[in-house]
Amino acid sequence: MRGCNRGCRFCHAGFYYRPVRERTTEKIIRLSLKTLEETGYNEISLLSLSTLDYSDLETVLNELEPFLKENRISISLPSSRVDKFGLEIGSKISGARKTGLTFAPEAGSQRLRDVINKNITEKEILDVAEYAKKAGWRRIKLYFMIGLPTETEEDVKAIVELTKKIKKHTRIKDITVNVSIFIPKPHTPFEKERFYQPKEIKEKIKILNEVRKFAKLKVHDPYVSLIEALLSREIEKYQN
Ligand code: SF4
Repeated sequence: MRGCNRGCRFCHAGFYYRPVRERTTEKIIRLSLKTLEETGYNEISLLSLSTLDYSDLETVLNELEPFLKENRISISLPSSRVDKFGLEIGSKISGARKTGLTFAPEAGSQRLRDVINKNITEKEILDVAEYAKKAGWRRIKLYFMIGLPTETEEDVKAIVELTKKIKKHTRIKDITVNVSIFIPKPHTPFEKERFYQPKEIKEKIKILNEVRKFAKLKVHDPYVSLIEALLSREIEKYQN
């Protein structure tokens, strides 16, 4: 599958690789089985920008399941989809590893999630975390972004609060919060937005440090992000 139908406003891939084009289920099944048979690998990953949004994933998984089981092959389905349906499908194949589950609310507050067009509610996030715990996942990785357009101190604090709620709600001990820094990308609705300077980002990180009291925190280096932002602006010149 190429493209993604989610339309998150910060996402270069989501806009640059439009429109969504799906391979047929027959082709995916045929290529998967042929590749596994001919290579002998014991793991397969169905990759795309948002695999769980593929319109007939259930058929693909059902068709692959007997071969995967018989040959003890595991499957992984990377996706940023956060809902119960996605998880149910993801957990469907018994060989699917259930060690770590990743999802990306991207922003802590509902207001900011709406601004960036990440269409998920807090209830959906908590429900999916609870479902994940019940389905046997023991580790959760959360992806957030700071420095997003219109972001306030309250929005950054909301990342801490949301993580706290997920922890309380699920009692999953092993939670990692990964935070990247927003970089305005060409060809996205946010291409002309500002990039926060490392000094300002450091103030936001101070607020986030509260997370360390109950979860692991990993924050992208603001200076590396600065270089990425500069390259992103430069690349824009050459693409136009
Ligand atoms: S779901 Fe992921 S790939 Fe799709 S637009 Fe959003 S961030 Fe980009």
